[in-house]
Amino acid sequence: MNCIFCKIVKGEIPSSKIYEDDIVVAFNDIAPQAPIHILIIPKKHYSTILELEEDDKELIGYIFLVANKIAKDLDFHERGFRIVVNCNRDGGQTVFHVHFHLLAGRAMRWPPG
Ligand code: AMP
Repeated sequence: MNCIFCKIVKGEIPSSKIYEDDIVVAFNDIAPQAPIHILIIPKKHYSTILELEEDDKELIGYIFLVANKIAKDLDFHERGFRIVVNCNRDGGQTVFHVHFHLLAGRAMRWPPG
């Protein structure tokens, strides 16, 4: 499978890793949309969140705990942050390996574009 994020998981292409364990990897987005823009991805490949099933509930909760940990470790938790998941064309998804954008370091606008 020719998935760029699976290649990052396997270390086949470089990334600026922030956090890694057996379940997830977090790394800096290559085209940051905020002063802090980190992607948190499951190591297991899912093309979109539509592929997630009952057994994956724990994984999704875990990703939020990792986001909290990163926010606290990097000390932007009190100012705040945004977590975004894009799905398919209208959602603006461009990489088809589930990923959570963790954005911080500036005031976010609402509604998003
Ligand atoms: P999305 O539009 O939600 O699919 O987001 C995909 C994100 O992946 C974009 O913000 C890209 O800038 C980012 N991205 C694509 N390739 C890489 C890469 N090799 N390393 C880090 N981030 C990447």
